[in-house]
Order: sequence, then C-alpha cells, then structure tokens
Amino acid sequence: MTIKLKITLWFTVFMVLLSAVVFAFIALVTRSTAGHQARGALTGLVESNTHEIEYDDGELEIDDDFVSFKSGIYCFVLGDGGEIITGYAPDEALERVPLKEGAVHSVRAGGETYLVYDRRVQVKKNLQVWVRGAAPESGAAINTPALYRAVLIAVPLLILLAAGGGYLIAGRSLGPIRQIGKTAEEIRESGDLSKRIEMRGRGDELHRLAGTFNRMFDRLEANFEAQRHFTSDASHELRTPVTTILAQCEYALENVSEKEELYESIGAIQKQGYRMAHLIETLLSFTRLEQRTETYSFQTIDLSELVRSVCREQKKSGEKGIALAAEIEPGIKVKAEGTLIARMLENLIRNAYRYGREKGNIRVTLGKAGGEIRLSVADDGVGIADAEIPKIWSRFYRVERSRSAAKGAGLGLGLALVKQIVELHGGRIAVKSEPGWGSVFTVLFDNAG
Ligand code: ADP
Repeated sequence: MTIKLKITLWFTVFMVLLSAVVFAFIALVTRSTAGHQARGALTGLVESNTHEIEYDDGELEIDDDFVSFKSGIYCFVLGDGGEIITGYAPDEALERVPLKEGAVHSVRAGGETYLVYDRRVQVKKNLQVWVRGAAPESGAAINTPALYRAVLIAVPLLILLAAGGGYLIAGRSLGPIRQIGKTAEEIRESGDLSKRIEMRGRGDELHRLAGTFNRMFDRLEANFEAQRHFTSDASHELRTPVTTILAQCEYALENVSEKEELYESIGAIQKQGYRMAHLIETLLSFTRLEQRTETYSFQTIDLSELVRSVCREQKKSGEKGIALAAEIEPGIKVKAEGTLIARMLENLIRNAYRYGREKGNIRVTLGKAGGEIRLSVADDGVGIADAEIPKIWSRFYRVERSRSAAKGAGLGLGLALVKQIVELHGGRIAVKSEPGWGSVFTVLFDNAG
C-alpha cells in the first residue's frame, strides 16, 4: 500500500469518525429540542382551547374558535364518561385512554406513539368536561427524519470530497519522494551521476530533502570524477616506464651479446623500475594522506632544527651549481608530524633545484610573523605564469614549458602532496611567482608552540 493511499485512508477514517460524532450530537440536540417544542405546542393548543368552552342558557357551548386540528395536533372534548363531545381522535383507542389532568404522557395506539395531554374544564358546579390533545410523536419530530436524510446524504458526499482532496494533496506533497526514487533508480540503471532530482514547488521539508540529495549527488559526482581522473592518470604514468622496460628487454634479448651492452640495458630497466617504485610510493602516501586512513602522532617538534637538517641534506644532493642559503630563527616549536613536514620541505626544495636557474640561488627562511609561523622557499628560476598557478596543486599537473625546460621533471604529484600535508596540519600555502625571475612558496602555520 502506498503512503499516499495510507494517508488518504487514515484521513477518511478520521473524517468518518468525526462525522459520526457530529451527527450523533446533532441528532441528540434536535431530538430533545423537537420533543420540547412538540410538548409546548400540544399543551399550548389544549390550554387555549379550554377557554373556548362555556356554559350558556343551561347548555354546554363550544365556541367556533375551538381548534380541533392544527399542525399535526388533534384536540377533542370528552365528557366525564369518556364520550366525544366535539372534535375527533386520530385513533379510537385514544378516546379510551384514562383521563389524567395536566401531564403530558405517551400512549401507543394503532402502531403510533402519541403524546397526550388532558385538561379538565369545570363548566358548572357538577358538570365537568375534558379537553384532550393528542399529537403523534413522529409528527412532533416531523423535521428530524428529513434532517437525518439530508445529513446522511451530505456527510458521505463531504467525506468523498475530503478523501478525494486528501488524495490529491497527499499526491502533491509526496511528489518529491517519487522524484527522489525515480532519479536514484535512473542513476542506478545508467550509472550517470550527473542526473539530479527535478525540484518544483515551494521549499517544504521534502523539497529540502530533495535539495540535500542533489547536493549529495554533486559531491559523489565530484569524488567519482576525481577518482576516475586519478586512476586514469596513474595508469597513464605507469604505462610509460612499463613500455620502456619491455622495449629494453626485447632489444636486449634480440640484439645484445656484449656484457657491457647488457649492463647498459639492465641499467636503463633499473632506472624505470625506480621511477615506478617512486610513483607507487608517492601514490600510496598520497592516498593515505587524502583519505586520512593513517593515524598521525602530532608531537611538539623543533621546527628550526628540522628545517636546518633538511636544508643540509638537500644541499648535499644539490645540482646545477645552485647555492642554498638558510635563514632560520632558532627554537621555533610546532605541533606536527615530523616526517611529513620534512617531506613537504624536501619537495619544495627539490622543485626549487629542478626549476631553478644554473648557478642560481635558493633561500629557505623560517620565522614568526603576526602570530604565525612562516616557512618559505624562494628560487630565482623559471617561475610560473599566473594562469598556471591555480593548477599546479592538482595531482599529475605539470606545466608544459617547465617540463621541457627542466631536466628530469617529476610526476606532478609533489605540490599536491605538499598541499595535503599543509592542510593536515591546519596550515595554508601560497605562491608568488614571476616567469623568468623565480618563485616563492610560503607555508603558514598557527603559532602553537
Ligand atoms: P613536478 O613533479 O612536476 O615537479 P609538482 O607538483 O611538484 O610536480 O609541481 C607541479 C608543477 O609546478 C611543475 O610541473 C612545475 O611546472 C611547477 N613548479 C613547481 N615548483 C616550481 C618552482 N619552484 N618553480 C617553477 N615552477 C614550479
């Protein structure tokens, strides 16, 4: 059973119950009012008729104004012995009913219940007559069955109308749920995450729910897209060394006979093997960082000492005759994961060497500024064009020009990794660069220590 039907059913049952209660209440009230009115009319007519009986010239005289029938009420005069003097009874049995002064009572006669009211009229000293009024009870409630009929027709009609209206309203309000289901089903069938729930109407709860779902689909689509790119880029990157390795193997197997040539081939294969190992290693740490699957132990470390030691290491493997100078404010402490911070700085310095000018300069500075810790790596190399700057943080992104300019360009993962590490530590990273003049990468951390 659909929710729409359930709501309509509940609504209808409620309406039926409500109508029954209202109906019973109306019936009760009309019955008592009708009864009350009927008694009033009966006694009123009898009372007024008693004034129409006189005794004149030794004879009992009944005035012309005596009303023997009015609005369903019969009125007749009975002698002391029970004989009818004037008027008529609707049923003979009513003539025989014992006389009872001044009280309305019910009497059954000829399959009908009558309200009967008697009044004694003392005409003269030893002559008395009775005025009797009789009104059928069904007649008294003359309007009640008509009212019931009207109610019995109107109420089901109203219930039907309400149920129909309820069904429509329920249908309209549940529309977004149908849409959500439809879209989810379409996505499941086609695998197309770009589909969205169509949202019409005003912003009720279901409308907001549909909005939430749409935002969730946005997020899922973006994640899925990123994942797809990542996989295709990673496979693409791995394909190049694998192709080179296979080509080298084929060449060596077919052509190489000299030991030296064989060494050369193995050397080339080894180089590609290292490249792959490096790529896989970087991808793994990247994924771990991004998905935060690893728990890192953040400890207060001496950042000044760490920066000094990384600079010393990098200087040793320095190339192109580039001079590395470090300006480090001593004793700067920070809560961080030491190995990750070292890795971040290594990546920045390696880039500075890679994209630096022959016999150029690299300056690493560490200091405190405005409540923040500022670590920067500046070079005077090729620099980065403004248009490229937003893109260099993306995975596998490499600037074309610098790729050809710099020997042994990397995988395009270095800066993406740097950014991940900085964000993990709640810091920010920015770059200022001028093509042909050099670049400055600046990392800012909160001054926790
Ligand atoms: P790669 O492994 O290619 O160095 P990165 O993610 O480290 O990848 O850097 C992305 C791109 O940013 C590089 O291809 C390069 O063009 C540019 N880049 C990074 N650092 C520098 C720098 N110090 N000077 C000039 N360009 C840089």
